[in-house]
Amino acid sequence: MNQIKTPKIPLMTYYLIALAVVLLGNLFIGPMLAERQIKEVDYGTFMGMTQKKEIGQVEVKSNQIIFTDKDHNQIYRTGLMNDAGLVDRLYDAGAEFSGEIVQQASPLLSFLLSWLIPIGLFLLLGRYLRSKIMDKESGGNAMFFGGSPFGNFGKSSAKVYVKSSDGIRFQDVAGEDEAKENLQEIVEYLHDPQKYQEIGASMPKGVLLVGPPGTGKTMLAKAVAGEANVPFFSMSGSEFVEMFVGMGASKVRDLFSQAKEKAPCIVFIDEIDAIGKKRDGQLSTNDEREQTLNQLLTEMDGFEGNNGVVILAATNRPESLDPALTRPGRFDRRVPVELPDLQGREAILRVHAKKIKIADNVDYGKIARMAAGASGAELANIVNEAALRAVRDGRRFANQSDLEESIEVVIAGYQKKNAILTTKEKLIVSYHEIGHALVAAKQTNSAPVTKITIIPRTSGALGYTMQVDEDNHYLMTKEEMLNKIATLTGGRAAEEVEFGSVTTGASNDIEQATRLARAMITRYGMTDEFDMVAMETVTNQYLGGDTSLSCSAQTQNEIDKKVVELVRTQHEKAKQILSENKAKLDELAKYLYEKENITGEEFMDILNSPVKSEAAE
Ligand code: ADP
Ligand code: ZN
Repeated sequence: MNQIKTPKIPLMTYYLIALAVVLLGNLFIGPMLAERQIKEVDYGTFMGMTQKKEIGQVEVKSNQIIFTDKDHNQIYRTGLMNDAGLVDRLYDAGAEFSGEIVQQASPLLSFLLSWLIPIGLFLLLGRYLRSKIMDKESGGNAMFFGGSPFGNFGKSSAKVYVKSSDGIRFQDVAGEDEAKENLQEIVEYLHDPQKYQEIGASMPKGVLLVGPPGTGKTMLAKAVAGEANVPFFSMSGSEFVEMFVGMGASKVRDLFSQAKEKAPCIVFIDEIDAIGKKRDGQLSTNDEREQTLNQLLTEMDGFEGNNGVVILAATNRPESLDPALTRPGRFDRRVPVELPDLQGREAILRVHAKKIKIADNVDYGKIARMAAGASGAELANIVNEAALRAVRDGRRFANQSDLEESIEVVIAGYQKKNAILTTKEKLIVSYHEIGHALVAAKQTNSAPVTKITIIPRTSGALGYTMQVDEDNHYLMTKEEMLNKIATLTGGRAAEEVEFGSVTTGASNDIEQATRLARAMITRYGMTDEFDMVAMETVTNQYLGGDTSLSCSAQTQNEIDKKVVELVRTQHEKAKQILSENKAKLDELAKYLYEKENITGEEFMDILNSPVKSEAAE
């Protein structure tokens, strides 16, 4: 859910401004107040008043004489003259000699006037503003920490969502079953940390929710808090850095000290990539961000595994995160929150449809199919748009055509931003992905994938293939590498075999295949020509793994030719495999096209069953 952002000016600045105003006031207004009561007169007037015995109090200073009239109503000032008999004359005139006439104009009052009242006023105003901000932030449910008005110096405005206020539970998050399953363990831990402590198990300190925007990451984090019945602290990564220099680190410190007091609890950091970007040692590094990140790392290292604070963080750019953040002991668990599939979309539509008045005969399945590639937030938007349309047409509830229309509205609006596939594209992507999997399966005779989906990713990939995890597989034989290259070319090969044309969809495959082929030649000594000679060395393994060539230009030429040859051979092999198994390719691709998802088991079942596509037609 999107929260209203905290105001850009924190209270700290507000107090600083107030203090400055008070100080300035004292510099200029204070003296003016005091001066106004003193009347400047010439020495003659003073002598005249002395003669007429009209002097009340008098104070002879080093360069001036301050005096009052008999009733002490008015204070006068005059210059000092070389007047020998002055003191005697004043004494005769009955004047009182006093040391502090000016201050007598009620020191307490002037202190009150110039200091306490302005400060008091500002404090009142501050409290008023603050209560306004609080109301705005979470419907009055947020709690601020730090009771005293000055308690907020350098403190963050991290909010605690009292569980009842949001009340989001897992059941409110439709679809995303895998993510929920993953997070269930965290919920159980928060319910009963003791159970885990007893056996000596420690929870992951940080869980990274990774996925495209609007897929319900924030919702899931809140749901974990809701399910576990614990407080929920939330802050957005950009808030840490964008506001004031030097505040980020102290905000982190503060957030965690609050969290520790309230443990067990959830700390949620949205957009963590804003602080956790790779520190790549470029010239334009952002010190502020780096300090904030360092503080976050320190905090995470600082608390022991079992203190009941679980940090959830969300990002849609996991690849840009600093490796320091993702290493064990920090955000070492990663929960993918993907765009919903067909069933997920239908479920999300149903959840949101409950919030509006809608006809009973709506075909949610159809709507879900039409909205391929839409995120949860977009689906919520589609439902709302439908309700708006119904109102515009003067109807009391939304119906099927409202929903269908609003898909167009929402999708047309999103088309640039999000890839929503046309029917033809979807078919091409199906063939492409099945091509990869089929080539892999035919070469190894085992299930090559755990799952294939053709739901577009924001990463740019139009489909996605989850490879089978090869456990503890550190060595790769030459044959395996060649097979892998063939598999990588399988996507493009399928497009060629089926459609006789090629698309841009294979750019990533091409990159990977080239890199592999090149590495075989230059680094792994897998060709006869170059034997075991390193033609290339890896310069920085941890930052991108760049390589630099260490051979003559002529050899480079040969290497390039060799790379092309190697990839071409495997590409031909892939095409041949697919042509030989064209019937299965068609059958599998059609299945994927219909279902949008295919598991490794389903894939192997279809592959191993007798060919039936011809029989069916
Ligand atoms: P993220 O944090 O991933 O960007 P949010 O959690 O802020 O996404 O989701 C934005 C909105 O989209 C939610 O308030 C909700 O209305 C809707 N939404 C997203 N995913 C789901 C889902 N799986 N089930 C129900 N609603 C969802
Ligand atoms: Zn591909």
